[in-house]
Amino acid sequence: MRQVLAGTTAAKGMALGRARLVQPSRYLVDTRPLNEDEVESELARLHRALDTARQELRELRGKLHGALAREVNEFIDAHSLLLDDPELLRGLDDLVRIGHYRPGAALKKQRDRLAAVFEAMDDPYLRSRKEDVDQVIGRVISALQRQTSREERKLAARVGEILIADTIAPADMAHLAGSGLLGVVASSGSPYSHSAILARSLDLPMLVGARDALSTIHDDDLILLDAERGEAVVHPTAQDLAHYRAWQREAAAEGRRLATLANAPTRTRDGVDIRLFANAEMPADIAMARARGADGVGLYRTEFLFLRQKGLPTEDEQFIAYRDLVLGMGGLPVTIRTLDLGADKADAAGLVLRGEDNPALGVRGVRLSLRYPAVFSTQIRAILRAACYGPVRVLVPMVTQPDELIAVRTLFKLARQELKRENIDLPEKLQLGAMIEVPAAAINVRALLEHADFLAIGTNDLAQYVLAADRGNDALDNIYNPLQPALLRLLAYVITEGRRAKKGVSLCGEIGGDANFTGLLLALGLCEFSMHPSQLLHVRDRLASLDHAALRAHAPRILRSRTHEEAEALLASITG
Ligand code: PEP
Ligand code: MG
Repeated sequence: MRQVLAGTTAAKGMALGRARLVQPSRYLVDTRPLNEDEVESELARLHRALDTARQELRELRGKLHGALAREVNEFIDAHSLLLDDPELLRGLDDLVRIGHYRPGAALKKQRDRLAAVFEAMDDPYLRSRKEDVDQVIGRVISALQRQTSREERKLAARVGEILIADTIAPADMAHLAGSGLLGVVASSGSPYSHSAILARSLDLPMLVGARDALSTIHDDDLILLDAERGEAVVHPTAQDLAHYRAWQREAAAEGRRLATLANAPTRTRDGVDIRLFANAEMPADIAMARARGADGVGLYRTEFLFLRQKGLPTEDEQFIAYRDLVLGMGGLPVTIRTLDLGADKADAAGLVLRGEDNPALGVRGVRLSLRYPAVFSTQIRAILRAACYGPVRVLVPMVTQPDELIAVRTLFKLARQELKRENIDLPEKLQLGAMIEVPAAAINVRALLEHADFLAIGTNDLAQYVLAADRGNDALDNIYNPLQPALLRLLAYVITEGRRAKKGVSLCGEIGGDANFTGLLLALGLCEFSMHPSQLLHVRDRLASLDHAALRAHAPRILRSRTHEEAEALLASITG
């Protein structure tokens, strides 16, 4: 029967697919014991499902190429090893043969046992590997369930899969996108989490906060994910499917219309030129940024290099990645952000401190980089070498006070001296900018401007710290709102101070790419936006319909709002 689950859109789009649940611990498995005469055939069924899961992983490996393959193979290897683990297999056989468990129940039991082992580990990284167990066992359970319904399986092969999960880690997102996943429905999470950012960058429709998803949806249910409306329709009707087809036609037509804007100037209705930059993480982002006429890269998140592999990337590995980015932008300016690990971005190499009580307020961003000068200097050398190939600016994340910028400048100076001694080519002086994402940095921005050549406002984090509301926690949706007056006033202040000091100010948080906020940001005086390249044409299109002078005149009223609801109503009346 048709059911509609409401959620919050994290990445727009629609998809029609077969549900794949990844919360095996919550699976409703048949717990009735087996009869003695069923044991052998059920064991054979279990082993067929294990073989299917192994085969799926092999096929997945064969399908991936290039950077995505490098990123994902590590997971595939870990999962394949787990599927062949003698202890796991012996345990499963014993549960079925001796305990008379049905295969699904045996898998769940083994999952719970292994999960308990991982959960008891002191090391948070190992503890987080529980997710691998979930994914592997989930894959086998899905294979087992598919054996029971050949008809659905045929359908599924045609329509692909929609992941139904509690949350999804950013590192798993690329893995799943490579396996032909069509979309994600998460029962918790927030549109400002890194997973959501990645979903947008992969063009995967994603819904978060769909509370009852795991209890309502079953494996193989047909799902119409409508992330345009913020809902997932379970067992869609013919009418839903017609709506989906209409959306597909409209999306294609809109895509063609927007494509004509790729080479258009970025200008408001009253003729004010605005600069649009791209946030980039992956090579595909660079190509898209160029194709859609970005003015450059406003934020290159280097931590993704560190999250993709177990050890630290070497100077040469980093140099190649940065140089390719610079070359890929063909002479347009590129802003490379130094390592921003910590909080929800824990690396596999172990730089991030373990066991911090409050990692979002801990040693993250530039604080972490300055704690490891050797690691940081390696990155700085790679950036300096890459900057010989085109215009590069350097952006420092999580700056709180001026001495951090002074320390980074000193490390750049030392790295230059070192490279010079080694007779390695050096670029001209690079501009050094500060991310404004800590309230202290925003409030004390004048002092920072004495040391920064430009500013980039990171509203994702600035909002979380100003509002004391975790950006990934959907229970705080009513607080974590970009229209909160306190945040708007800080934004206006930082933009005004940056302009007064004649320094560039861009904004690279998620609201920079959300056309619903374009008018607001213009009103506050912003002239440089940085966003995921998929948003460039939408924002350019929006800008062409907005009157800069009229919006600027509304700024004092907007800044007098007392609640985010008031600001929202006002903005709606101004921008229509
Ligand atoms: C931000 O905080 O707004 C930002 C752009 O940085 P990140 O999302 O990488 O934390
Ligand atoms: Mg940030």
